[in-house]
Amino acid sequence: MSEKKLKFNSKTIHGGQKPDKAYGAYGAVMPPIYQTSTYAQTTPGGHKGFEYSRSGNPTRAALESSFASIESGNYGLAFASGLAAMDAVIKLLNPGDEVVSTNDLYGGSYRIFKQIFEKYGIVFHFVDMQDVSEIENKVNPNTKLIWVETPTNPMMNIIDIKAVSNLAKRNDILLAVDNTFATPYLQRPLEIGADIVMHSATKYLGGHSDVVLGALIVKDKDLADRLYFIQNASGAVCGPMDSFLTLRGIKTLHLRMQRHCENGKVIAEYLKQHPKIEKVYWPGFEEHPNHAIAREQMHDFGGMISFTPKVGTFEEAVRIVEQLQIFTLAESLGGVESLAGHPASMTHASIPKEEREKSGVVDSLIRLSVGIEDASDLIADLEQAIE
Ligand SMILES: *Cc1c(COP(=O)(O)O)cnc(C)c1O
Repeated sequence: MSEKKLKFNSKTIHGGQKPDKAYGAYGAVMPPIYQTSTYAQTTPGGHKGFEYSRSGNPTRAALESSFASIESGNYGLAFASGLAAMDAVIKLLNPGDEVVSTNDLYGGSYRIFKQIFEKYGIVFHFVDMQDVSEIENKVNPNTKLIWVETPTNPMMNIIDIKAVSNLAKRNDILLAVDNTFATPYLQRPLEIGADIVMHSATKYLGGHSDVVLGALIVKDKDLADRLYFIQNASGAVCGPMDSFLTLRGIKTLHLRMQRHCENGKVIAEYLKQHPKIEKVYWPGFEEHPNHAIAREQMHDFGGMISFTPKVGTFEEAVRIVEQLQIFTLAESLGGVESLAGHPASMTHASIPKEEREKSGVVDSLIRLSVGIEDASDLIADLEQAIE
């Protein structure tokens, strides 16, 4: 049976992984960890498909095929981190090229745009992408890339990928989607017109908070070749052990995501009715401003939730996150364990306060990555912290 015909829940387990074809003589069911930098050649250039592990490694190759499979792409590329993957995409551009991105963006993405690439003459615009005409206003002949993140971090706005893709195609602009929050379980941007999908596999794909790794997935061969050239020439590749851990994580992605979504719904609803909570941001609420688009482009609503307490101060948010016991106060998200964060002082501290507050990231905002524990324990923990 052709692998492309498999259902998503089978692709997570079998995508790109054939029991031990190249993996040696023993029929190993998991791709072995090829902890080697180089490969013996019989004659100069006479190798068996791998020559040097920056250029390619069998464990990484298995992961890259798995990425391509679960995102409905043709080519996957694995990097040392999500930001290293992003770095490779921006290196497709030249000085004078312009990028339009969302104003409600992962802090590290904003930082690499502004503090690394702006000085090489690439111009970045940040707009509210909930309104596609705001993107259109910035498009000109120099616009070469639109960078979308949806749901946005940490405000959980939803951007209409199909609408942005139509705009990008009309103007011959590449569309990249950071699919870290949604994962291909919830949405597959390549199926609705995106050119590049990027992941911080550190989060849900790895899923166990034990690896830092990034991914790019594309359909187009020429684009894949250009990105592969950058991956090899710039060299921000991931190691075989991290590739293995991520492959193992992906095998349970569909099961974990199902529980993240179930728990997310229970917790969002609990917070919404709580008298001490001001506002809850979660795309599953019918009154969420982009709920209709979320319903259309996502399979479910995920386990990422942001909220503000009624006592809307920096101190109150800090008090709550410090008081939590099952939720761990930490950067990152998407692991099996529940995490809580305070964007203004943690993930989004690198964005200037005025910029931050324009998009709603106020000092009292708390972000939850709801894990897969028993939901009643998570609610009891929130209850004692909020009280
Ligand atoms: C974490 C994250 C990144 C950066 O990925 P790293 O693996 O930490 O380099 C990019 N985008 C989003 C949405 C993230 O959550």
